[in-house]
Amino acid sequence: MRVLVVEDDDRVARGLLTALRHAGYEVHRVATAADALRAAPADVVLLDLGLPDGDGLDVLRELRHRPGTAVITVTARGEERERVLGLRAGADDYVVKPFGTSELLARIEAVLRRTRTHRAEPESDGPIQVGALQISTSTRAVTLDGEPLSLTRKEFDLLALLAARAGEVVSRDFIVDQVWQAHWEAPSRTLDTHIAALRGKVGGHVKIETVRGVGYRLAT
Ligand code: CA
Repeated sequence: MRVLVVEDDDRVARGLLTALRHAGYEVHRVATAADALRAAPADVVLLDLGLPDGDGLDVLRELRHRPGTAVITVTARGEERERVLGLRAGADDYVVKPFGTSELLARIEAVLRRTRTHRAEPESDGPIQVGALQISTSTRAVTLDGEPLSLTRKEFDLLALLAARAGEVVSRDFIVDQVWQAHWEAPSRTLDTHIAALRGKVGGHVKIETVRGVGYRLAT
């Protein structure tokens, strides 16, 4: 498993590298947003949001288009707004400085478990097909009327979840649990935001219905 550490503080980075290598990860470190985007793909990116050459959130948005890469944001204590923006932009989790090594390793293991679960979804009975929508859970590719659709990681997870249960009402709690496995508060609005973004992308082809007070349903 490969971990990319994006951290401009040498002292913090050194500690992280030592701990992660000790835990058996292959670790690579960069100190700038530009290098983070140039770095080889990683299974997990530990992303400091305060970088010298740019906004870590921009890096995050860019990384979101790379399937199979989980992102954990790293922020300083008190930067609650940054953490929330990070989660909204699709971060899988966050840690707050100063954090303990065991907490960090536990969070990395948790996001990897989720990523692997998603990847390991069986596709023996082929991709999910709902009307003009086709979703491959193994390659995480989505096409609409044969045209590739660009989704963020969370949007993909959300759409795949609804499509696998097309025609059924999927409760908000279930969605939040499956897609975010959230330990953070108030994910409700985040779910609505992602639904709105998805609706914008699937347009008139696929209808995501709101079932008031319950959840959502992908119409067949
Ligand atoms: Ca920093």
